[in-house]
Amino acid sequence: RTKGYQRGSHTLFTREMGIAIRERAMLMQHLHKAFDAERLYLMYQPQVELINRRVLGFEALLRWRTDDGRMIPPTDFIPLAEHSGLIISLGAWVLRTSCFMMRQLLDKGYQLERIAVNVSVIQFRQPEFIELVESALRDSGLPAHFLELEITESVTMNGAGMFEESLAHLKSLGIQIAIDDFGTGFSSLSYLDKLPVDRLKIDRAFVMQIDTADGPRIAELITQLGKKLGLKIIAEGIESDLHWNVLQKLGCDEGQGFLIARPMLESAIEPWLRDWKTS
Ligand code: C2E
Ligand code: MG
Ligand code: MG
Ligand code: MG
Repeated sequence: RTKGYQRGSHTLFTREMGIAIRERAMLMQHLHKAFDAERLYLMYQPQVELINRRVLGFEALLRWRTDDGRMIPPTDFIPLAEHSGLIISLGAWVLRTSCFMMRQLLDKGYQLERIAVNVSVIQFRQPEFIELVESALRDSGLPAHFLELEITESVTMNGAGMFEESLAHLKSLGIQIAIDDFGTGFSSLSYLDKLPVDRLKIDRAFVMQIDTADGPRIAELITQLGKKLGLKIIAEGIESDLHWNVLQKLGCDEGQGFLIARPMLESAIEPWLRDWKTS
């Protein structure tokens, strides 16, 4: 009986896995097609200085709307794209589009400091990555210091030596580097001290923690750590005045979140900038 039961549950397990794999393969096909059919697009979320509300720039965030109008969150399809290798061409497109968008805003006279672009580990590991960044800057005419690459902590753990070299090269071009979702991964502190990083991004989870009995404990730690290392601190996921005020008091320099604005289409940026200035 026990045996049969086990075998039964084993069959069920593999059947479910089979479905999961088929679904994943299908989603992957759809993703490839979506990229070709330009159903993937970018939204931009403002980043502001907390102390004076000044707009610093935007983070580019990828979106996928399927043919039947469903939104697939990037946390679902980025891993897929990483798995299939599509992230290389997709990431290149994100980088180039973001640089061109920023260049246009600057050409129109907006005084902004940065466009932040998320970079996946897989992209970063590509030997051609630096060339890709250089060509995106060259072709768009965007000076390097306007570009910030957001890298998650896991990147810093993988292939440490090569990573350090690539970062140093990117820094020598004048590009800025932020560690995304800081505190959720496994950064080695000695590494953080050595790496040419400009900014730590406090993960949304630690901003949400402000509303709990724990309060801003981790946000405070990250801010103090960053300050000690001479880094700028930005918080993501600011949803209330309380979040803003608490973070500002802690010494957090910058922030982004729904309180300020949700990620928006490129066409909404200029109206938003006007509104923000007058409000
Ligand atoms: P992330 O880089 O940490 O981006 C911040 C996420 O928090 C975004 O989710 C943003 O929409 C969301 N967010 C910002 N403010 C708030 C807020 O006040 N409340 C709430 N509830 N959420 C807020 P999104 O756009 O779904 O992106 C999720 C993740 O997907 C990103 O996390 C990033 O890791 C990844 N991602 C997005 N675009 C790209 C891309 O072009 N390339 C790569 N490699 N990854 C990307
Ligand atoms: Mg990010
Ligand atoms: Mg983040
Ligand atoms: Mg995050």
